Amino acid sequence: MSTLPRIAFIGLGNMGAPMAANLARAGYPVQAFDLSEAACAAARQAGAGIAASAIEAVKGAAVVISMLPASRHVETLYLGQGVLAAIEPGALVIDCSTIAPASAQKVAQAAAARGLAMIDAPVSGGVAGAAAGTLTFIVGGEAAALERARPVLQAMGKNIFHMGAAGAGQVAKLCNNMALGVIMAVTGEAIALGVAHGLDAKTLSQMMAVSTSRSWATEVCNPWPGVLENAPSSRGYAGGFGSDLMLKDLGLAVEAAMGVGNAIPLGEMARNLYALNQQAGRGGLDFSSVVKLVAKE
Ligand code: NAD
Repeated sequence: MSTLPRIAFIGLGNMGAPMAANLARAGYPVQAFDLSEAACAAARQAGAGIAASAIEAVKGAAVVISMLPASRHVETLYLGQGVLAAIEPGALVIDCSTIAPASAQKVAQAAAARGLAMIDAPVSGGVAGAAAGTLTFIVGGEAAALERARPVLQAMGKNIFHMGAAGAGQVAKLCNNMALGVIMAVTGEAIALGVAHGLDAKTLSQMMAVSTSRSWATEVCNPWPGVLENAPSSRGYAGGFGSDLMLKDLGLAVEAAMGVGNAIPLGEMARNLYALNQQAGRGGLDFSSVVKLVAKE
């Protein structure tokens, strides 16, 4: 029998499934749940136990982790469905979803009112980082709660940054993703321009990857099909980080900017680009599909 604490894991999508699999691989007893039966079946294969509901999953768990799409899913789970009330006294709650800082604070306050410690711990590193266990965790909440969470986070990731109080992890994550959304869009524009002039996309990308515009968008998730075999662009933009999730994050960045009166001209423009990508029917594809707005067929 494992002496490691029991973990409830809610949300087994592109990110949650490999994260839960890494916890199971590290020896943690994992009770998982997702609304999708297919997602549950895949997690079962990876060594996680599957509960009949989120409330069943959290029963007896010392640590509860959620990895859901957006604010409304997290608020519905913990507050609407009453999962917070079903969590064992003294358990630690870790929300890894990317959501509005205000939502993270609201749920953390409700948790605190029940005597539960909670941190927001959104991640960076993508699906590949989740699978490899090399995610970066960007944490908001009390230092003592982070110290309790650290061994669990280390089973799924490599870098941990404590950004401040509840919600601060979400603010930092939005800053990262706003920059990423802009960088991906402009990388696609640059490659499309080169290709329109007859350049080879692969050679152009290889040059950029060791030059001053180098970035994750060029080197790891290149938006041009065929440049990187393992990038979503080379498999019809399937999997990866959904364009609609990037649209959500840019919307959160716009809200965050309005809250403090900051100008984010490129962030706002990028939000519009991903909205156009959604209108073009690509919201469910990887966000690198934004290149299709400017690439000539
Ligand atoms: P996803 O859509 O693939 O997975 C979300 C899962 O949550 C789905 O399987 C869905 O069925 C499940 N779900 C929704 N509501 C639920 C509920 N009430 N109870 C149980 N399950 C529920 O999304 P993802 O790509 O795994 O992303 C999850 C979060 O991580 C998002 O906030 C996203 O912004 C963030 N994120 C994603 C990436 C990435 O590369 N995909 C990278 C960093 C951060």
